[in-house]
Amino acid sequence: MTTVDQLTSQEAIALEDKHGAHNYHPLPVVLKRGEGVYVWDVEDKKYYDFLSAYSAVNQGHCHPAIVGAMTKQAEVLTLTSRAFHNDVLGRYEKYATEYFGFDKLLPMNTGAEAVETAIKIARKWAYEEKGVPEQDAQIIVCENNFHGRTTTIISFSNDEDARKNFGPYTPGFIKIPYDDTEALEKALKENDNIAGFLVEPIQGEAGVYTPSDDFIKKSQAICKAHNVLFIADEIQTGIARTGALLAVCGNCTCEGHCEQQETYTRPDILILGKALSGGAYPVSAVLADDPVMNVIKPGQHGSTFGGNPVAGAVAMAALDVVKDEKLAQNARVLGELFRKKLNEYIEGSSIVNLVRGRGLLNAIVINDSEDSSTAWDICMALKENGLLAKPTHGNIIRFAPPLVMNEAQLLDCVAIIIKTLKAFEK
Ligand SMILES: *Cc1c(COP(=O)(O)O)cnc(C)c1O
Repeated sequence: MTTVDQLTSQEAIALEDKHGAHNYHPLPVVLKRGEGVYVWDVEDKKYYDFLSAYSAVNQGHCHPAIVGAMTKQAEVLTLTSRAFHNDVLGRYEKYATEYFGFDKLLPMNTGAEAVETAIKIARKWAYEEKGVPEQDAQIIVCENNFHGRTTTIISFSNDEDARKNFGPYTPGFIKIPYDDTEALEKALKENDNIAGFLVEPIQGEAGVYTPSDDFIKKSQAICKAHNVLFIADEIQTGIARTGALLAVCGNCTCEGHCEQQETYTRPDILILGKALSGGAYPVSAVLADDPVMNVIKPGQHGSTFGGNPVAGAVAMAALDVVKDEKLAQNARVLGELFRKKLNEYIEGSSIVNLVRGRGLLNAIVINDSEDSSTAWDICMALKENGLLAKPTHGNIIRFAPPLVMNEAQLLDCVAIIIKTLKAFEK
């Protein structure tokens, strides 16, 4: 059955429903193929993908260079564990540390693992380098954060679904409002045991909350003044999504990494995942300079799959694509066009209040209560019209297409979105 017969959408959904845990509520569409900005369902209907697997597929579906690197490596050597060396890991670590401008990289697989790794490094650094009394290290996080799904990470979430009945919770986190440098300054003044400030440069899951222009830069300066690590979770915002290589690059228009730019804010710890593999394979990483990374010694942290040769080969290919195809520049230009077109529409709209975002990470806020089904209904109608997007937090719809989109395709998508919204106007 798995190889011979093509399932209908209904059959595939019924199988998941019966045999799979119900930890997601997907749109009722069953995809079987993807190429570039497009995906096809099992009935061969073609869609624009406007989610990109939460920004993992920045390089587009099944990019031939990434798939090529993956299959080539998979035929030779897939996994050694870190008990032995492999001949890809060192090359990948050199490539990625030069690409992003850090001394060292620690390889993991999923985003949540990389966040956990950053938390562990920050705590250890606080005890061994900053002199925080043992067991007292605190990490400052922001309200409405999303950093993953592990027990520790959900401990400092304020999403009730993510948190409720999963306690007891991990202590050691202080929550402050997002985009509030005064609150950060106050928290740091009140407590000498702060190890780090963990922050998303734009809050993606929360609904693409885009902070004030100087929030990141100011936060980093405050952290520096208090000898606190500035930890950027760029799992969703990084790797060209927001129109620069990283969101901490601000409005820098260079295609790669440069520390000369005035807008660049250098994190002490950079967390990457998702598009680090172009969606081909789970690859995540934590990057830091020696004084921070060297607190981790043999045996103190690890992962069976972390740093495997397939992951290294895939990540190098995925990062090559970002540079070669100038994806940051494309995201910047198309993102501006997207917001301009939608803003023109919103002026006369009763159903959409706002479009916000940077580069090709955008969201619209629907004029209805958070528990209404309007955003979901709009996404269902978008699906009928050939575009896949998903509501996040009730009345917000995120729009994040693959960054390999061209202008004609984007304008086509804008037309689909506006046509769909028009049907919901009162
Ligand atoms: C997706 C995401 C994570 C978690 O990544 P997983 O691979 O799902 O574990 C963490 N932080 C941010 C900002 C994310 O968008």
